[in-house]
Amino acid sequence: MTTQATADQYLAATYARFPVAFTHGAGSLLWDDEGKEYIDLGSGIAVNTLGLADEGWADAVSAQLRALAHASNLYYTGPQAQLAKALCERTGMSKVFFSNSGAEANECMIKTARKWSSDRFGEGKRPVIVALEGGFHGRTYATLAATGQPALHEGFAPMPAGFRFAKPGDIEDMRAKLDDSCCAVMIELVQGEGGVNVLEPGYVRALAALAKERGLLLMIDEVQTGNGRTGTLFAFEQYGIAPDAVSTAKGLAGGLPLGATLFGARTAGVLTAGSHGSTFGGNPACCAGALHVLSRLDEALLSEVREKHEYICASLEGAPGILGSTGLGLMLGIATARPAKEIANECLARGVALLTAKEKVRLLPALNIPMDLLEKGLGVLKEVAGAHRL
Ligand SMILES: *Cc1c(COP(=O)(O)O)cnc(C)c1O
Repeated sequence: MTTQATADQYLAATYARFPVAFTHGAGSLLWDDEGKEYIDLGSGIAVNTLGLADEGWADAVSAQLRALAHASNLYYTGPQAQLAKALCERTGMSKVFFSNSGAEANECMIKTARKWSSDRFGEGKRPVIVALEGGFHGRTYATLAATGQPALHEGFAPMPAGFRFAKPGDIEDMRAKLDDSCCAVMIELVQGEGGVNVLEPGYVRALAALAKERGLLLMIDEVQTGNGRTGTLFAFEQYGIAPDAVSTAKGLAGGLPLGATLFGARTAGVLTAGSHGSTFGGNPACCAGALHVLSRLDEALLSEVREKHEYICASLEGAPGILGSTGLGLMLGIATARPAKEIANECLARGVALLTAKEKVRLLPALNIPMDLLEKGLGVLKEVAGAHRL
């Protein structure tokens, strides 16, 4: 049986998969089980930060696997401690909790907000977290409840209580949604799954000021925007805000499952022994991969990300069938005349793997994608986007 046939028979049908089975990759190239080559403009949904099979990354992870792949969090391990230190030093945050995914990093952030609130105002007195319509925070129950996309809630009632939604970009709507039952605001700075919608800096700064004025926690979901994706290590740096908590995952370990919740001064002491935990969270092999990724995310690579953003926008601007682009750094949404899904399917058939987000084509290439591959991939996208259907 082929991989596809086996998967279709035995895997739960939770994904509308592209009809391709990948076997290996190198940098921003991928190969499928028939030997066909692809240019990767999606990097596993912003996961493979340095591309596939990066030498330095694979060496760092392999060395750790041979030394100590796992130890319980009842003990100390070097890579976890070093990674927490590096993340705090580079963000100005104070403490870190490690988990295995974006949803778990957000789950931890949500639990922290509720515990912070209970400690200050009394158990369960001010539990409400205000998030944004069109946001995406994960698939576990709490993070799904925080996700402002009603369609994703369908069939899963009852949803956990204590979440409320405001319209992105509308500070008056946010003001109207905040009352004395609230403890925190939780947002993405660029809504990824929601269609690559960039929040206006003016709105975000007004929101940060409002949260401060009301004494609420400001929590930023950087699961997708973190780890250099937007051209700075974290997107919040570009907004001039000081969050009380930041979550990240996807690109953090460059291809291995790792989530992190970063705490600022107000939240650093909230979680105490026994109040939260994870068996695999902060696994030494994943942390070794993340330490390597962080060591590569220097100012040279980050400015390359910003330059590639400009290059992509200039290359696509005015091309037939391309209506515009949104995003920051190498997280881009492209509005197209033809349906995005159709474009993604045709690009894949022509050897270019890219993604969609809502009605847009979505580009999330590896941060170190070589310019010649980027140019070639965009060339195919432009031809497909501009093709008239017969
Ligand atoms: C992908 C994503 C998540 C969920 O991450 P998982 O690792 O799939 O649990 C949460 N928030 C944002 C902004 C994401 O892009």
